[in-house]
Amino acid sequence: MCKRRRDIRIGVLALQGSFIDHIHILQRLGVTAVPVRLPEQLGKLDGLVMPGGESTTILKLMHNFNLAVPLKEMARSGIPIWGTCAGMICLAKGIYNGMKSLNVMDMVVKRNAFGSQIDSFESNLTISPLGDKPFPCIFIRAPFIERAGLQVEILARLPNGIAVSARQGKLLATAFHPEFTDDPRVHSYFLKMVGSSA
Ligand code: GLN
Repeated sequence: MCKRRRDIRIGVLALQGSFIDHIHILQRLGVTAVPVRLPEQLGKLDGLVMPGGESTTILKLMHNFNLAVPLKEMARSGIPIWGTCAGMICLAKGIYNGMKSLNVMDMVVKRNAFGSQIDSFESNLTISPLGDKPFPCIFIRAPFIERAGLQVEILARLPNGIAVSARQGKLLATAFHPEFTDDPRVHSYFLKMVGSSA
């Protein structure tokens, strides 16, 4: 079912990290975008974005705020969720500082895979559902996708073949930060997954 943009409500997990930037782009695209910190705020959402930041901190707060179980249920019930960078780590399989990630996407990621903060970089990459025009991908202490199951479609790779974006059903993951660019195409793509008619 397609909804008009202004009727779409996207939650942005606001425990830590770059949630404000996602909210601003989503609002620019005409949807209602709200910060989410409590389980009871998950109920009326058409989709959820899990931002970049520090996955160990985000996972710790997610468990402390009793969000992990409802977030897993949300993912399993088919509500679109997009994780950027630390958010991608939360969606994948793994245990970090003793805390379990949500393990809703069938893939293993490597944290801080390109080195430390000073090894951050930008690369123009083709993201398959966005067509031929490359997207400016900003990697900040980013993870990459080490292994992915058969149901996981890889959407983007670095020139050396390393996978940095994937989709599994209604779950989307990017190792980079589209919210730090002026290019709203990944956000628009996510809104299409949510079922926007615009
Ligand atoms: N290095 C961070 C982590 O492992 C992710 C960085 C980011 O989200 N930009 O959680």
